[in-house]
Amino acid sequence: MDQYRVQPGTKLDLQAIDPGQTGGLTREAAKAETKALNKRLEDLQELLYAENKHKVLVVLQAMDAGGKDGTIRKVFEHVNPQGVKVASFKKPTAKELAHDYLWRIHQHTPGTGMITIFNRSHYEDVLVVRVWDIVAESRWSKRYGHIVDFEQMLADEGTTIIKFYLHIDKEEQKSRLQARLDNPAKHWKFDVADLDQRARWDDYMRAFEDAISRTSTADNPWYVVPANHKWYRDLVISRVMVDTLEALDMSYPESEDLSNVVIP
Ligand code: ATP
Ligand code: MG
Repeated sequence: MDQYRVQPGTKLDLQAIDPGQTGGLTREAAKAETKALNKRLEDLQELLYAENKHKVLVVLQAMDAGGKDGTIRKVFEHVNPQGVKVASFKKPTAKELAHDYLWRIHQHTPGTGMITIFNRSHYEDVLVVRVWDIVAESRWSKRYGHIVDFEQMLADEGTTIIKFYLHIDKEEQKSRLQARLDNPAKHWKFDVADLDQRARWDDYMRAFEDAISRTSTADNPWYVVPANHKWYRDLVISRVMVDTLEALDMSYPESEDLSNVVIP
């Protein structure tokens, strides 16, 4: 999965990455492998919780209909809900806007033993904010540095950060939005405002390229996940999650000698 990891200091070119990749796998083979990985993820998450030492932060960013919700549903379907939190970052409230842009983020970072998934994140503050000139360039351009420092602080204090950009192309977004339009049961997911975002597709791609290039570090890497095929996306993310958690080399805490305990 290293091929999808953005190496620090490289300039990402999203056009050079095919979002339709399947790693040469069939859908069936990928699904079977994902299922096995997700079982493994269940065990690793229990271990993380039991060991109560590490904190894990997963950042999900994508264009609308990029598959953030589906990823959360599929990849984490087996994990114990007690050990996993999802924080979704929407348009900031007046109170949030009265503070610095990391204020609302920091309070949702994971505590020990926990996995927190950010469904959108502080990266919106260099994506939507940049594309729509919500703050001046002189302000947003400094944020890459803040973000690198903020994440490094979290990493130094024991948080493992994994960032995923779900890479779909404009055609795939169109067909997903059309599918929502065609199915009345999915109309609640259809937001007419998404079409305004879609119209700025190229600007978003540039903003993603800059954000990812400037903030993928050795400790806090970005992965660009080919996501036109949901089943391949799930496989890649499950694999990266399992590999990352395994590298933490966790163990169950030592318990006292229980061999003589008799339950009356
Ligand atoms: P769904 O799949 O349900 O549509 P979503 O993540 O798109 O999920 P929405 O409520 O539709 O949720 O959209 C959230 C909107 O808030 C996005 O358009 C996003 O760009 C915007 N947003 C998030 N953070 C910020 C921010 N810091 N400043 C301005 N807009 C933001
Ligand atoms: Mg939306």
